[in-house]
Amino acid sequence: MKILVINAGSSSIKYQLIDMKTEKAIAKGLAERIGGDGSVLKQKTADDRAVTIEQPMPTHKEAMQFVLQALMDKENGVIKKVSDIAAVGHRMLHSAEDFHGSIMATAENIATCRKNSDLGPLHMPPMLDCLDSCREVMKDTPMTIVFDTTFHSTMEPVAYLYGVPYELYEKYKVRRYGFHGTSHKFVSEEAAKIVGGKSKIIVCHLGNGSSISAVKNGKCVDTSMGFTPLEGLMMGTRSGDIDPAAVDYIASKLNYTLPQMVQYLNKKSGMLGISGFSADCRDLTEAAEKGNERARLAIEMTAYRIKKYVGSYAAALGGVDLIAFTGGIGENSAIIRGLVMEGTEYMGVDFDFAKNKVRTPGVTELSKPGSRVKVYIIPTNEELSIARETAQLLKA
Ligand code: ADP
Repeated sequence: MKILVINAGSSSIKYQLIDMKTEKAIAKGLAERIGGDGSVLKQKTADDRAVTIEQPMPTHKEAMQFVLQALMDKENGVIKKVSDIAAVGHRMLHSAEDFHGSIMATAENIATCRKNSDLGPLHMPPMLDCLDSCREVMKDTPMTIVFDTTFHSTMEPVAYLYGVPYELYEKYKVRRYGFHGTSHKFVSEEAAKIVGGKSKIIVCHLGNGSSISAVKNGKCVDTSMGFTPLEGLMMGTRSGDIDPAAVDYIASKLNYTLPQMVQYLNKKSGMLGISGFSADCRDLTEAAEKGNERARLAIEMTAYRIKKYVGSYAAALGGVDLIAFTGGIGENSAIIRGLVMEGTEYMGVDFDFAKNKVRTPGVTELSKPGSRVKVYIIPTNEELSIARETAQLLKA
C-alpha cells in the first residue's frame, strides 16, 4: 500500500509517497513559489532519479496536478496511475477541541477545520485550500487529516489551562494546545519500545521550532508549546516564555502594536535575537567556536531552557525512564545535548559525553550501560507518522 503525505504551506507543497510495506519514502518532492513567479516542483526518488517541473502554478490545484504528473512521470516516476495511491494523509495545524485524533477528510470534518482557522491564521487556510484542491484532483482517493495538536489532547486541565479567568477558556477556548504532535507521538512510541512495559518518556524535539513533551504510558501529560508555538523553549527566531508585562513595556518603547509584537517575538527573537546574526544552530556553533560571545550565549540560553523543562517534566511524570533527542538540533548538535545533560546525575542519568560527540546514524544510545535513565537520539519521521495514522484510519 502506498500513501501520499502532504504538508502544505502558503506557497508550497511538501510531499512524500511512502510504501507502507517497508515504511520507506519511494519519492519526496517540493512544489515551491505557488501563486508567484518561477513556480517549480522538484522530486527525488529513493533510487536518486529526479523530476523537475517548471510551469506556472497559480494555485495549489495546479501544483497538485503537477505532483501527480511527477509521481507518474514516464521515465523517472514511481507509479503508473493515480489509483496506485491508496490514500492521502494531510498534515493540519490545529484541531481545536473538536478532534482528539486523526480523522477522515469528509466535507463535514473539513468545515469544522475551516471554522477553527482563526487559531492558526497563517497555516490553516493554505492547508485547507490544498486539501480542497487535492480532493478535486483525486476524486476517488480516500483522504485523512492528521493534526499537529491531537497527540497533546490527553493533557489534563491542570496542564493545559492558563491562570486567567476561566470564562476565557469557556467562551474562546483559550488554553494550551501544543504542537509538533506527530513528531512527539512517533518518537515517544519508538522510545516506549526501547523501555518496554510502562514508560515515562521526555521527548525533546529541537529544530527551528522546538518543543518538549512529557509522555506517560503513551499519553502526553504536558508539552512546552501553548496556545501557539511561541510558548516554551527559546527557539531559532522565537522568544519562548516571556513575562507578558515585558511585552507591553517593549511595545511602548518600540512603538509597536500588539500584532507587531507577536511578529517580533516569533520572527526576530530567540537565537537570532540574542546572537544578532543567525537563527541557525550550525552558524552559531561555528561562531562560538571562533570566540563569538553572543553566539555562545544564544546556545547556552537555548540549552538552559531545555534543561529546566526536562527537570520540570521529570517532576510532572514522577521520574523518567528515557530522554529522547530529536529534530535537526536534537539529532545533530552535540554541544546543545551535552549542555542539557551536564549535571543531571541527580536524576539518575549517566551520560556518555564522549559518545555524544560521535554521530552515528539512526537510533543511538547516549547514556552509559546501567544508567537508570536512558538517553537516546531517536530521529523523527513526521511523514511516516502521518502515513501510519492514515493507514490505521483506512483499516478502521
Ligand atoms: P524544522 O523545525 O524547520 O523542521 P529542523 O528540524 O530541520 O528544523 O532543524 C533545523 C535546525 O537544526 C537548524 O538550527 C540547524 O542549524 C540545526 N542543525 C542541523 N544540522 C546540524 C548540525 N550538524 N549541528 C548543529 N545543528 C544542526
